[in-house]
Amino acid sequence: MSIAIETATDLAYQQCLNPACRNTLGVDQAVFACPRCGDLLDVVYDWDRLPVPDRLSDFEAKWSRRLDPLCFSGVWRFRELLPFAPPDQIVTIGEGQTLLQPADKVAQYVGMNPGNLLLQYEGMNPSGSFKDNGMTAAFTHARMVNARRVACASTGNTSAALAVFCSATSFGFKAIIFVGSGKIAYGKLSQALDHGALTIQIAGDFDDAMERVKQVADRLGIYLMNSVNPFRLEGQKAIMFRVLEALNWEPPDWIVVPGGNLGNSSAFGKAFIELKHLGLIDRVPRLAVINAFGARTLSELVGTHGLSWLDGTPDENVTNAYYHLLDASKAKASTIASAIEINRPVNLKKCLRALDFCDGVVRQVSDQEIMDAKARVGAGGLGCEPASAASVAGARKLREEGVIAPSDRVVCILTGHQLKDPTATVAYHSADQDQFEKVLGSRGVKRAGFANRPVVVANDLDDIIRMIALYADAPAGG
Ligand SMILES: *Cc1c(COP(=O)(O)O)cnc(C)c1O
Ligand SMILES: [Zn+2]
Repeated sequence: MSIAIETATDLAYQQCLNPACRNTLGVDQAVFACPRCGDLLDVVYDWDRLPVPDRLSDFEAKWSRRLDPLCFSGVWRFRELLPFAPPDQIVTIGEGQTLLQPADKVAQYVGMNPGNLLLQYEGMNPSGSFKDNGMTAAFTHARMVNARRVACASTGNTSAALAVFCSATSFGFKAIIFVGSGKIAYGKLSQALDHGALTIQIAGDFDDAMERVKQVADRLGIYLMNSVNPFRLEGQKAIMFRVLEALNWEPPDWIVVPGGNLGNSSAFGKAFIELKHLGLIDRVPRLAVINAFGARTLSELVGTHGLSWLDGTPDENVTNAYYHLLDASKAKASTIASAIEINRPVNLKKCLRALDFCDGVVRQVSDQEIMDAKARVGAGGLGCEPASAASVAGARKLREEGVIAPSDRVVCILTGHQLKDPTATVAYHSADQDQFEKVLGSRGVKRAGFANRPVVVANDLDDIIRMIALYADAPAGG
């Protein structure tokens, strides 16, 4: 077979998620909510009229054409599976050069057999998080609709990705980002500033910033790049395509992913729905979405209140009652994993669809479990930021419960790079008790069981040599 390059845009359109509405819009629209009922929009395709490869391994032909940016990109080499854009409109900065790595020390911590725990390291993206997978698709759409000013509210990584895409491309994009004050990790804030984004710090948290950016985008006609943007999710499907690629196209048993705004989990579910529909996979991995304890809306709604997809009609009373409770108790999301510090996940409904299709589960993990898992990830290979480690902490919990078997093949998504949030890492490992208390103790983290403490020594050669003799052969991190 040959993978055709040509894609007519009328073969892709946007459709309202609400089965009682099913309003459709062209892909030339940038409204990000159904104009009729306000529900989320999906990008859908007329697959019967589109050129789709017969088998996933057909994509391997792209590997020999790496000088073509659309084949080099870890998103667009799969563009037949997200065919909403004319190829000459695609905006790419070489995103998605990520890797899937077996991590046996982490496997041991989680309780898996050697070789059966793999880490999908999305920290290797140009901006250091998986968000680039979505940004390349959203910027492509922004270019299709002739947008110039692009905005998002962010816990940090979306704004970092947005800023990088604006600065690294030459289509005249101008980044405007909204962050909650004091709610953004330094690595991420520094990226927004360094890449020249107009950075607006709101006195409030992420949920407040989100509300405002929607209003501003509406009022000023600015293109909205939050994960309500369905085109972003199209790009994020590619994370699953690359996982399959790295496993020689054989689906794993589990995908474990942290849940914040639930864009990633939604995108993964959509990827598997479409791959199954197209006959490109015969088995669907189970999905585990992991909340932080301090931002556990999904876990509460699904686990405690039994909320489920119900063919697109989840009981809105359940969700509304929960949000009412949050408001009444003035509850604010709070976790060291700032990337998932979100109480009102915008893609909740799409995530319910993903959980339904992938026989999914939801769990919550404490900041203690997150920081310990993060230290084990760091000691066992590729470093990640706190939110990413929720996936490993969640896998460990599911192993303890016996939901995941030691012989299962489990892929944990490491969503963001270690250097995104050095404050959390240093506080965990530091011997400075004040810093530990300020950064982690305030979050309920009681101990740093896997700390690798810096050794303080006088500026004296004999002392230094004595210290090395004392410590060098001790196993790091206990
Ligand atoms: C955005 C982000 C998440 C949360 O992903 P959602 O798609 O919002 O659920 C998790 N980890 C990191 C590092 C992120 O940047
Ligand atoms: Zn609608």
